[in-house]
Amino acid sequence: MASRYDVIVVGAGPGGATCAALLAKWGLKALLVDKNSQVGGKAMTVSKRGFRFEYWPIAACPSTGTHFHDVLKTLGLEKEVDLIVPDPLGLMHYETPSGEIRTIVIPGAGRPIDPMDLFNVLGVTEAELPEVMRLFTDILGMSPQAQEQLDDVGLLEFLDRYQVPTSVRSMLTTLQSEGTLELPNDIASASEFIKVFTQNNTRGGGLYPSGGFGRLYEAMTESIRANGGDVILRTKVERIIVQNGRIRGLATDKGTFYAPVVVSNAGIQPTVLKLVGEEHFDKSYANYVRDLVPSLGFAGARYFLSRPVLKYPLYVYFSDNTVSTMEKHLKAEAGQMPEQIYVFMSTNSLYPGMAPAGKQMVYTGISCPADPKTKIEPWIDKVEAEVARLWPDVFKFVEHKEYYGPAQISRLSRDSVVPGTGGECIGLGQIAGQTGKLKPSPRAPIGGLFYVGADAGGSGFGNHMCVESGLNVAKMARNYWLTHPAAHKA
Ligand SMILES: Cc1cc2nc3c(=O)[nH]c(=O)nc-3n(C[C@H](O)[C@H](O)[C@H](O)COP(=O)(O)OP(=O)(O)OC[C@H]3O[C@@H](n4cnc5c(N)ncnc54)[C@H](O)[C@@H]3O)c2cc1C
Repeated sequence: MASRYDVIVVGAGPGGATCAALLAKWGLKALLVDKNSQVGGKAMTVSKRGFRFEYWPIAACPSTGTHFHDVLKTLGLEKEVDLIVPDPLGLMHYETPSGEIRTIVIPGAGRPIDPMDLFNVLGVTEAELPEVMRLFTDILGMSPQAQEQLDDVGLLEFLDRYQVPTSVRSMLTTLQSEGTLELPNDIASASEFIKVFTQNNTRGGGLYPSGGFGRLYEAMTESIRANGGDVILRTKVERIIVQNGRIRGLATDKGTFYAPVVVSNAGIQPTVLKLVGEEHFDKSYANYVRDLVPSLGFAGARYFLSRPVLKYPLYVYFSDNTVSTMEKHLKAEAGQMPEQIYVFMSTNSLYPGMAPAGKQMVYTGISCPADPKTKIEPWIDKVEAEVARLWPDVFKFVEHKEYYGPAQISRLSRDSVVPGTGGECIGLGQIAGQTGKLKPSPRAPIGGLFYVGADAGGSGFGNHMCVESGLNVAKMARNYWLTHPAAHKA
């Protein structure tokens, strides 16, 4: 293995794997380093008990015309990974104020739910319909410029501009915001919500790569080697080396590697405050980074069942009382769980090769603090009580179960360098004031250092946002490398 590269990428999560694969394809000598034994970060796919699965439920949105398709095509990997679009995707259950549970099928393959069927299930009256239609038309027809105006507006504040029934607000906020942005809805950015909602309703949701999300990132990583680069796993980066205000390379527990360009997928806060060290930054920049707000964490369960219970990949439940707010979240953190919560059940076992014949693994979960020290029991108890009420069959066939929370998430992804952070579900929170034009720049204020992944360079939902970031940051890093020949000799 060489010790000198054109570019080194720290972290093989969705953003890092994409970025390193593209840079290698474009002719740069690239090194990808990750502390884990497998690539994929929070979206890695593992094999256990005869199943293949991600540690928590992962499905992508949009499903058609995605950055996943673009990157696979650029890398010549279309035949390696099939991007599956389930149809139907699942079932949506709405509980009315009188306790009746109404169900509607969520179609897949880029087809939205028929709006009139949806409004019927949500109990929208004829008198309420014009205002509901105004809201949907405004969202789906909004120009990028108008969306940008909402980068610092919270989702509930945006919805307050429309006099729509609570059932409609609840459907939008629980399914299309809390379930994707992993944030209380009063602080979630309206512009990010609109992006995800529009993508979901025009280009579908639920995309799943054949063999799992990890397989997608493994194929990208294999292409790095095929294009003359190197990949080293089980290697923790301890320091990104800066000399004379320039990137020099990095120090790991397996040795030192040199490059004029380093792209970090380790999270903006760990990168600036720990790996580079805040002494290399202007105080105001270090404080800006320290004050960034992460997404919520997540706690949940995986149930390994002796027979299939779910017919579709996704089942979601909400009621008029499930709109999450910062106040509700803080109360839950203080031990006062809300009475009703948004709940889901999902499975990847329906996809080829993911489960032993006749068996199924299903997930459930709930947003919780991102702090890896969070005691997850109260959150798990709440979600399990709701699963028992809504999908009692699941518990009849459990052969084995496993719980997960922010500590496991942090172990697979980023270090906790600011109190309360590390186990975030997405990464940087897509909150009002921190998205779109207000999101951190992927270019660090040190020549040759870039951030990639959830924290910078993309927008939208989870993996898709990170792959978009990988694509955008790869272009920036290549341009830097091409235009700074003096840095190559440093
Ligand atoms: C419970 C849960 C449910 C989710 N559901 C979905 C979903 O349904 N759909 C969806 O699209 N997304 C979902 N996501 C979010 C998605 O997985 C993340 O947004 C995405 O993985 C973030 O990618 P990233 O590129 O920022 O890097 P990460 O996935 O955070 O990976 C970072 C990588 O950097 C490595 N690294 C960090 N520090 C170092 C170091 N010092 N040295 C070496 N390596 C290092 C880590 O080992 C890791 O591999 C979910 C996440 C969770 C936790």
